[in-house]
Amino acid sequence: MTNQTPITVKCPTCKTPVPWVAEQAFKPFCSQRCQLIDLGDWATEAHKIPGESVFSDLDNGLGETED
Ligand SMILES: [Zn+2]
Repeated sequence: MTNQTPITVKCPTCKTPVPWVAEQAFKPFCSQRCQLIDLGDWATEAHKIPGESVFSDLDNGLGETED
């Protein structure tokens, strides 16, 4: 039972297979670029969701983010 099957995930932005390893700093994204792209989309979409109090904490943490 020592098989170590490499776990991979698909980059949510560009669908590139990403190895789920510690070295992959931006997982599940393949790169920081894709991470930033997805976070940008996510933030935009979040504003369209009414009554989502889940994001209130994030708003505090990202208060200094330029808009
Ligand atoms: Zn990607």
